[in-house]
Amino acid sequence: MQMRPCWAEIDTQALKENYRYLAAMAAHEAELLAVVKANAYGHSLALCAPAVEQAGARWLGVTTVEEGIAARALCPKARVLVISGIFPGQAAAAIQFQLTPSIWESWQLEELEAAAREAKTPAGSLPVHLEIDTGMSRQGVGLDDLGRVFPHFGPDSPLRLEGVMTHLFAADEADGRVTEEQMKRVDETLGKISAAGLFAEWLNVGASAALLAGQAKVLAETAARHGMKAMMRPGLALYGIVPRFDPAYGAGQEPATLTAARAALKPVLAWKSAIVGLRSIPAGASVGYNGTFVASEPMRVALVAVGYADGLDRKLGNHFGLLVRGRRAPLIGRVSMDQVVIDITEIAEAAVGDEVVLIGSQGAETITAFDHADLTGTIPWEVFTRLGGRVARRAV
Ligand SMILES: *Cc1c(COP(=O)(O)O)cnc(C)c1O
Repeated sequence: MQMRPCWAEIDTQALKENYRYLAAMAAHEAELLAVVKANAYGHSLALCAPAVEQAGARWLGVTTVEEGIAARALCPKARVLVISGIFPGQAAAAIQFQLTPSIWESWQLEELEAAAREAKTPAGSLPVHLEIDTGMSRQGVGLDDLGRVFPHFGPDSPLRLEGVMTHLFAADEADGRVTEEQMKRVDETLGKISAAGLFAEWLNVGASAALLAGQAKVLAETAARHGMKAMMRPGLALYGIVPRFDPAYGAGQEPATLTAARAALKPVLAWKSAIVGLRSIPAGASVGYNGTFVASEPMRVALVAVGYADGLDRKLGNHFGLLVRGRRAPLIGRVSMDQVVIDITEIAEAAVGDEVVLIGSQGAETITAFDHADLTGTIPWEVFTRLGGRVARRAV
Protein backbone atom coordinates (compact mmCIF):
# COMPACT_ATOMS: atom_id res chain seq x y z
CA MET A 1 0.00 0.00 0.00
CA GLN A 2 1.16 3.53 -0.70
CA MET A 3 1.65 5.54 2.48
CA ARG A 4 0.20 8.94 3.26
CA PRO A 5 2.83 11.31 1.93
CA CYS A 6 4.31 12.69 5.14
CA TRP A 7 7.76 11.36 5.93
CA ALA A 8 11.21 12.08 7.28
CA GLU A 9 14.27 11.21 5.22
CA ILE A 10 17.16 10.09 7.40
CA ASP A 11 20.55 10.48 5.81
CA THR A 12 22.47 7.76 7.63
CA GLN A 13 25.61 8.56 5.64
CA ALA A 14 25.52 12.13 6.96
CA LEU A 15 25.06 10.74 10.47
CA LYS A 16 28.11 8.53 10.08
CA GLU A 17 30.17 11.42 8.73
CA ASN A 18 29.02 13.65 11.59
CA TYR A 19 30.00 10.99 14.11
CA ARG A 20 33.43 10.58 12.55
CA TYR A 21 33.94 14.33 12.44
CA LEU A 22 33.09 14.70 16.12
CA ALA A 23 35.18 11.68 17.05
CA ALA A 24 38.15 13.19 15.23
CA MET A 25 37.55 16.46 17.05
CA ALA A 26 37.76 14.64 20.39
CA ALA A 27 40.41 12.26 19.11
CA HIS A 28 43.11 12.05 21.69
CA GLU A 29 41.08 13.52 24.46
CA ALA A 30 37.71 11.89 24.85
CA GLU A 31 35.73 8.80 23.91
CA LEU A 32 32.35 9.71 22.45
CA LEU A 33 29.08 8.26 23.60
CA ALA A 34 26.49 8.75 20.84
CA VAL A 35 23.25 10.00 22.36
CA VAL A 36 20.33 8.24 20.68
CA LYS A 37 17.70 8.90 23.34
CA ALA A 38 14.09 9.75 22.47
CA ASN A 39 14.13 7.64 19.31
CA ALA A 40 17.43 9.21 18.24
CA TYR A 41 16.02 12.71 18.65
CA GLY A 42 13.04 11.67 16.56
CA HIS A 43 15.34 10.47 13.76
CA SER A 44 14.58 6.75 14.40
CA LEU A 45 16.64 4.65 16.76
CA ALA A 46 16.38 1.72 14.34
CA LEU A 47 18.07 3.70 11.58
CA CYS A 48 20.50 5.71 13.68
CA ALA A 49 21.87 3.35 16.34
CA PRO A 50 23.32 0.83 13.84
CA ALA A 51 24.66 3.69 11.69
CA VAL A 52 26.61 5.37 14.51
CA GLU A 53 27.87 1.98 15.59
CA GLN A 54 29.13 1.32 12.06
CA ALA A 55 30.81 4.71 12.14
CA GLY A 56 32.77 3.59 15.19
CA ALA A 57 30.67 4.42 18.23
CA ARG A 58 31.21 1.93 21.03
CA TRP A 59 28.82 3.64 23.43
CA LEU A 60 25.19 4.62 22.96
CA GLY A 61 23.21 6.82 25.33
CA VAL A 62 19.49 6.37 25.90
CA THR A 63 17.10 7.87 28.43
CA THR A 64 15.36 4.82 29.82
CA VAL A 65 15.65 1.09 30.27
CA GLU A 66 12.86 0.71 27.71
CA GLU A 67 14.92 2.61 25.13
CA GLY A 68 17.96 0.63 26.20
CA ILE A 69 16.21 -2.67 25.47
CA ALA A 70 15.36 -1.39 21.99
CA ALA A 71 18.96 -0.25 21.45
CA ARG A 72 20.28 -3.61 22.66
CA ALA A 73 18.17 -5.45 20.07
CA LEU A 74 19.67 -3.28 17.34
CA CYS A 75 23.25 -3.21 18.58
CA PRO A 76 24.08 -6.41 20.50
CA LYS A 77 27.71 -5.41 21.12
CA ALA A 78 27.41 -1.73 22.01
CA ARG A 79 27.72 -0.41 25.53
CA VAL A 80 24.40 1.24 26.34
CA LEU A 81 24.26 3.91 29.04
CA VAL A 82 20.85 4.65 30.55
CA ILE A 83 21.19 8.38 31.15
CA SER A 84 18.14 9.05 33.31
CA GLY A 85 18.74 6.16 35.67
CA ILE A 86 16.51 3.25 36.46
CA PHE A 87 12.99 3.53 37.77
CA PRO A 88 11.65 1.24 40.49
CA GLY A 89 11.39 -2.35 39.35
CA GLN A 90 13.73 -1.99 36.35
CA ALA A 91 16.99 -3.32 37.79
CA ALA A 92 16.56 -6.91 36.62
CA ALA A 93 15.80 -5.82 33.05
CA ALA A 94 18.79 -3.46 33.06
CA ILE A 95 20.99 -6.41 34.01
CA GLN A 96 19.35 -8.87 31.63
CA PHE A 97 19.90 -6.57 28.65
CA GLN A 98 23.38 -5.56 29.75
CA LEU A 99 22.53 -1.90 30.07
CA THR A 100 24.74 0.42 32.08
CA PRO A 101 22.61 2.55 34.37
CA SER A 102 23.54 5.96 35.59
CA ILE A 103 22.61 6.01 39.27
CA TRP A 104 22.57 8.45 42.17
CA GLU A 105 19.79 7.39 44.57
CA SER A 106 20.45 4.84 47.30
CA TRP A 107 17.38 2.86 46.31
CA GLN A 108 18.71 2.54 42.76
CA LEU A 109 21.90 1.01 44.12
CA GLU A 110 19.96 -1.26 46.44
CA GLU A 111 17.65 -2.51 43.67
CA LEU A 112 20.59 -3.13 41.37
CA GLU A 113 22.54 -4.96 44.05
CA ALA A 114 19.55 -7.15 44.88
CA ALA A 115 18.82 -7.92 41.23
CA ALA A 116 22.50 -8.63 40.55
CA ARG A 117 22.70 -11.06 43.48
CA GLU A 118 19.55 -12.71 42.20
CA ALA A 119 21.17 -13.09 38.77
CA LYS A 120 24.33 -14.46 40.45
CA THR A 121 26.40 -11.63 39.03
CA PRO A 122 29.98 -11.98 40.31
CA ALA A 123 31.44 -9.30 42.59
CA GLY A 124 32.44 -6.09 40.83
CA SER A 125 31.01 -7.06 37.47
CA LEU A 126 27.97 -4.81 37.08
CA PRO A 127 29.22 -1.44 35.87
CA VAL A 128 27.33 1.72 36.81
CA HIS A 129 27.98 5.40 36.24
CA LEU A 130 27.50 7.58 39.28
CA GLU A 131 25.83 10.88 38.43
CA ILE A 132 26.91 13.80 40.54
CA ASP A 133 25.04 17.07 40.89
CA THR A 134 27.49 19.84 40.09
CA GLY A 135 24.95 22.64 40.04
CA MET A 136 22.04 21.76 37.79
CA SER A 137 19.86 20.41 40.61
CA ARG A 138 18.29 17.90 38.27
CA GLN A 139 19.67 14.45 38.89
CA GLY A 140 22.80 13.27 40.62
CA VAL A 141 24.08 12.94 44.14
CA GLY A 142 25.18 16.13 45.87
CA LEU A 143 28.74 16.45 47.13
CA ASP A 144 27.61 16.27 50.74
CA ASP A 145 25.75 13.03 50.17
CA LEU A 146 28.55 11.20 48.39
CA GLY A 147 29.38 9.24 51.52
CA ARG A 148 26.12 7.30 51.40
CA VAL A 149 27.00 5.96 47.95
CA PHE A 150 30.42 4.51 48.78
CA PRO A 151 29.31 1.52 50.90
CA HIS A 152 27.51 0.12 47.85
CA PHE A 153 30.86 -0.47 46.17
CA GLY A 154 32.46 -2.68 48.80
CA PRO A 155 34.67 -5.64 47.74
CA ASP A 156 31.85 -8.18 47.68
CA SER A 157 29.31 -5.89 45.98
CA PRO A 158 28.27 -6.98 42.48
CA LEU A 159 28.45 -3.30 41.49
CA ARG A 160 31.46 -1.65 39.92
CA LEU A 161 31.89 2.12 39.80
CA GLU A 162 32.84 2.42 36.15
CA GLY A 163 32.08 6.06 35.52
CA VAL A 164 31.41 9.35 37.18
CA MET A 165 29.13 11.60 35.21
CA THR A 166 27.68 15.06 35.34
CA HIS A 167 25.96 17.40 32.89
CA LEU A 168 27.45 20.75 31.90
CA PHE A 169 24.36 22.90 31.71
CA ALA A 170 25.87 26.15 30.45
CA ALA A 171 28.63 25.06 28.09
CA ASP A 172 27.22 27.46 25.48
CA GLU A 173 27.95 30.51 27.61
CA ALA A 174 30.83 32.67 26.48
CA ASP A 175 32.53 33.42 29.78
CA GLY A 176 32.70 29.74 30.78
CA ARG A 177 32.29 30.68 34.44
CA VAL A 178 29.52 28.20 35.22
CA THR A 179 31.37 25.35 33.52
CA GLU A 180 34.54 26.21 35.40
CA GLU A 181 32.62 26.10 38.67
CA GLN A 182 31.12 22.72 37.70
CA MET A 183 34.51 21.33 36.81
CA LYS A 184 35.83 22.41 40.21
CA ARG A 185 33.09 20.39 41.84
CA VAL A 186 33.89 17.45 39.59
CA ASP A 187 37.51 17.65 40.66
CA GLU A 188 36.56 17.82 44.31
CA THR A 189 34.21 14.86 43.94
CA LEU A 190 36.84 12.75 42.22
CA GLY A 191 39.22 13.54 45.09
CA LYS A 192 36.64 12.29 47.58
CA ILE A 193 36.03 9.16 45.55
CA SER A 194 39.70 8.20 45.48
CA ALA A 195 40.04 9.14 49.15
CA ALA A 196 37.34 6.52 49.78
CA GLY A 197 39.54 3.96 48.03
CA LEU A 198 37.34 3.79 44.94
CA PHE A 199 38.33 4.17 41.35
CA ALA A 200 36.28 4.91 38.25
CA GLU A 201 37.59 4.46 34.73
CA TRP A 202 35.52 7.11 32.95
CA LEU A 203 34.85 10.74 33.61
CA ASN A 204 31.65 11.12 31.62
CA VAL A 205 30.91 14.82 31.11
CA GLY A 206 29.70 17.20 28.42
CA ALA A 207 27.21 17.26 25.56
CA SER A 208 27.41 18.78 22.05
CA ALA A 209 28.00 22.33 23.24
CA ALA A 210 30.94 21.35 25.45
CA LEU A 211 32.48 19.23 22.71
CA LEU A 212 32.06 21.90 20.04
CA ALA A 213 33.38 24.60 22.34
CA GLY A 214 36.60 22.62 22.58
CA GLN A 215 36.14 21.41 26.15
CA ALA A 216 37.48 17.90 25.50
CA LYS A 217 40.97 19.01 26.46
CA VAL A 218 39.92 20.43 29.83
CA LEU A 219 37.96 17.28 30.58
CA ALA A 220 40.82 15.04 29.56
CA GLU A 221 43.15 16.98 31.85
CA THR A 222 40.77 16.68 34.78
CA ALA A 223 40.30 12.99 34.07
CA ALA A 224 44.03 12.37 33.76
CA ARG A 225 44.71 14.02 37.14
CA HIS A 226 42.61 11.25 38.65
CA GLY A 227 43.92 8.46 36.48
CA MET A 228 40.69 8.41 34.46
CA LYS A 229 39.70 8.72 30.80
CA ALA A 230 37.27 11.32 29.47
CA MET A 231 33.98 10.53 27.78
CA MET A 232 31.66 13.07 26.15
CA ARG A 233 28.04 12.69 25.12
CA PRO A 234 27.07 14.56 21.94
CA GLY A 235 23.48 14.38 20.77
CA LEU A 236 22.28 17.27 18.64
CA ALA A 237 25.61 17.73 16.84
CA LEU A 238 25.46 14.12 15.66
CA TYR A 239 22.25 14.96 13.86
CA GLY A 240 24.05 17.80 12.13
CA ILE A 241 22.77 20.75 14.12
CA VAL A 242 25.19 23.05 15.89
CA PRO A 243 23.66 24.54 19.02
CA ARG A 244 23.58 28.34 19.10
CA PHE A 245 26.10 29.79 21.41
CA ASP A 246 25.97 32.78 23.65
CA PRO A 247 25.95 35.91 21.45
CA ALA A 248 28.40 37.41 23.96
CA TYR A 249 31.15 35.77 21.94
CA GLY A 250 30.88 38.55 19.36
CA ALA A 251 31.86 38.31 15.72
CA GLY A 252 34.92 36.19 15.08
CA GLN A 253 35.37 35.32 18.74
CA GLU A 254 33.61 32.02 19.03
CA PRO A 255 35.84 28.97 19.42
CA ALA A 256 37.39 27.91 16.09
CA THR A 257 36.12 24.37 16.63
CA LEU A 258 32.58 25.72 16.59
CA THR A 259 33.00 27.69 13.37
CA ALA A 260 34.54 24.67 11.69
CA ALA A 261 31.75 22.38 12.89
CA ARG A 262 29.10 24.71 11.53
CA ALA A 263 30.55 24.19 8.08
CA ALA A 264 31.28 20.48 8.43
CA LEU A 265 28.25 18.92 10.10
CA LYS A 266 25.39 17.92 7.83
CA PRO A 267 21.74 17.83 8.86
CA VAL A 268 20.57 14.22 8.98
CA LEU A 269 16.83 14.73 8.80
CA ALA A 270 14.62 16.17 6.09
CA TRP A 271 10.87 16.38 6.67
CA LYS A 272 8.65 16.20 3.65
CA SER A 273 5.06 15.98 2.54
CA ALA A 274 3.23 16.50 -0.72
CA ILE A 275 0.53 18.54 -2.33
CA VAL A 276 -2.59 16.37 -2.22
CA GLY A 277 -5.12 18.84 -3.61
CA LEU A 278 -5.40 22.16 -5.44
CA ARG A 279 -8.12 24.73 -5.61
CA SER A 280 -8.80 28.27 -6.71
CA ILE A 281 -10.54 30.52 -4.21
CA PRO A 282 -12.21 33.88 -4.84
CA ALA A 283 -11.51 37.12 -3.02
CA GLY A 284 -13.25 37.00 0.34
CA ALA A 285 -12.89 33.22 0.82
CA SER A 286 -11.64 32.18 4.24
CA VAL A 287 -9.06 29.47 4.86
CA GLY A 288 -8.92 27.03 7.74
CA TYR A 289 -10.43 26.98 11.25
CA ASN A 290 -12.05 30.27 12.29
CA GLY A 291 -11.14 31.88 8.99
CA THR A 292 -7.97 33.48 10.34
CA PHE A 293 -6.91 33.98 6.74
CA VAL A 294 -9.21 35.65 4.23
CA ALA A 295 -8.22 35.95 0.58
CA SER A 296 -8.04 39.59 -0.49
CA GLU A 297 -7.93 38.58 -4.14
CA PRO A 298 -8.45 35.37 -6.14
CA MET A 299 -5.83 32.78 -5.16
CA ARG A 300 -4.51 29.31 -5.96
CA VAL A 301 -4.07 27.25 -2.83
CA ALA A 302 -2.80 23.75 -2.16
CA LEU A 303 -3.65 21.21 0.49
CA VAL A 304 -0.62 19.56 2.13
CA ALA A 305 -0.74 16.31 4.12
CA VAL A 306 0.84 17.44 7.38
CA GLY A 307 -0.57 18.90 10.56
CA TYR A 308 0.07 19.42 14.22
CA ALA A 309 -0.43 15.72 14.93
CA ASP A 310 2.70 15.24 12.84
CA GLY A 311 4.60 17.76 14.92
CA LEU A 312 3.99 20.93 12.94
CA ASP A 313 3.46 23.63 15.54
CA ARG A 314 0.13 25.47 15.41
CA LYS A 315 1.94 28.76 16.04
CA LEU A 316 3.20 28.54 12.46
CA GLY A 317 -0.25 29.09 10.96
CA ASN A 318 -0.09 32.34 8.91
CA HIS A 319 3.58 32.77 9.92
CA PHE A 320 5.61 30.29 7.91
CA GLY A 321 6.32 29.06 4.42
CA LEU A 322 6.92 25.57 3.04
CA LEU A 323 9.05 24.79 0.01
CA VAL A 324 7.37 23.86 -3.26
CA ARG A 325 9.30 23.72 -6.52
CA GLY A 326 12.23 25.43 -4.82
CA ARG A 327 10.15 28.38 -3.61
CA ARG A 328 8.58 29.36 -0.34
CA ALA A 329 4.79 29.00 -0.29
CA PRO A 330 3.14 30.85 2.62
CA LEU A 331 1.25 28.72 5.09
CA ILE A 332 -2.20 30.32 5.25
CA GLY A 333 -4.84 29.86 7.91
CA ARG A 334 -4.49 27.69 10.98
CA VAL A 335 -2.55 24.46 11.07
CA SER A 336 -5.11 21.64 11.33
CA MET A 337 -4.42 18.34 13.06
CA ASP A 338 -3.63 16.59 9.79
CA GLN A 339 -3.48 19.21 7.08
CA VAL A 340 -2.36 22.68 6.12
CA VAL A 341 -3.13 24.98 3.22
CA ILE A 342 -0.43 26.90 1.39
CA ASP A 343 -0.61 29.78 -1.05
CA ILE A 344 0.78 28.75 -4.44
CA THR A 345 -0.66 31.66 -6.42
CA GLU A 346 2.90 32.64 -7.40
CA ILE A 347 3.95 29.07 -8.19
CA ALA A 348 1.80 28.42 -11.22
CA GLU A 349 3.41 25.10 -12.10
CA ALA A 350 2.64 23.54 -8.68
CA ALA A 351 0.77 20.26 -9.11
CA VAL A 352 -0.78 17.49 -7.06
CA GLY A 353 2.00 15.11 -6.01
CA ASP A 354 4.63 17.86 -5.73
CA GLU A 355 7.01 17.35 -2.86
CA VAL A 356 6.67 19.89 -0.07
CA VAL A 357 9.63 20.45 2.25
CA LEU A 358 9.08 21.30 5.91
CA ILE A 359 12.71 20.79 7.00
CA GLY A 360 15.48 20.47 4.45
CA SER A 361 16.46 21.92 1.10
CA GLN A 362 14.77 22.25 -2.24
CA GLY A 363 16.49 24.13 -5.04
CA ALA A 364 18.35 27.02 -3.46
CA GLU A 365 16.01 27.27 -0.46
CA THR A 366 16.46 25.63 2.94
CA ILE A 367 14.28 25.37 6.02
CA THR A 368 16.11 24.39 9.21
CA ALA A 369 14.97 23.07 12.56
CA PHE A 370 16.06 26.46 13.92
CA ASP A 371 13.56 28.18 11.59
CA HIS A 372 10.78 26.15 13.22
CA ALA A 373 12.19 26.67 16.70
CA ASP A 374 12.65 30.42 16.40
CA LEU A 375 9.06 31.00 15.35
CA THR A 376 7.57 28.73 17.98
CA GLY A 377 9.58 29.73 21.03
CA THR A 378 11.50 26.51 21.32
CA ILE A 379 14.77 24.79 20.42
CA PRO A 380 15.73 22.30 17.68
CA TRP A 381 15.82 19.46 20.23
CA GLU A 382 12.07 19.90 20.75
CA VAL A 383 11.28 20.40 17.05
CA PHE A 384 12.86 17.01 16.34
CA THR A 385 11.54 15.08 19.30
CA ARG A 386 7.93 16.06 18.73
CA LEU A 387 7.95 14.90 15.14
CA GLY A 388 4.90 12.64 15.17
CA GLY A 389 5.01 8.88 15.40
CA ARG A 390 3.07 8.50 12.16
CA VAL A 391 5.68 10.42 10.16
CA ALA A 392 7.46 7.50 8.48
CA ARG A 393 11.24 7.58 8.88
CA ARG A 394 13.00 6.43 5.75
CA ALA A 395 16.71 5.92 5.30
CA VAL A 396 18.10 7.65 2.25
C1 LIG B 1 20.51 14.82 26.06
C2 LIG B 1 21.75 14.73 26.82
C3 LIG B 1 22.99 14.84 26.19
C4 LIG B 1 23.12 15.24 24.74
O1 LIG B 1 22.88 16.63 24.62
P1 LIG B 1 23.07 17.45 23.28
O2 LIG B 1 22.97 18.86 23.71
O3 LIG B 1 21.95 17.08 22.38
O4 LIG B 1 24.37 17.11 22.71
C5 LIG B 1 24.12 14.61 26.94
N1 LIG B 1 24.04 14.32 28.25
C6 LIG B 1 22.87 14.25 28.90
C7 LIG B 1 22.85 13.94 30.35
C8 LIG B 1 21.69 14.47 28.22
O5 LIG B 1 20.53 14.40 28.88
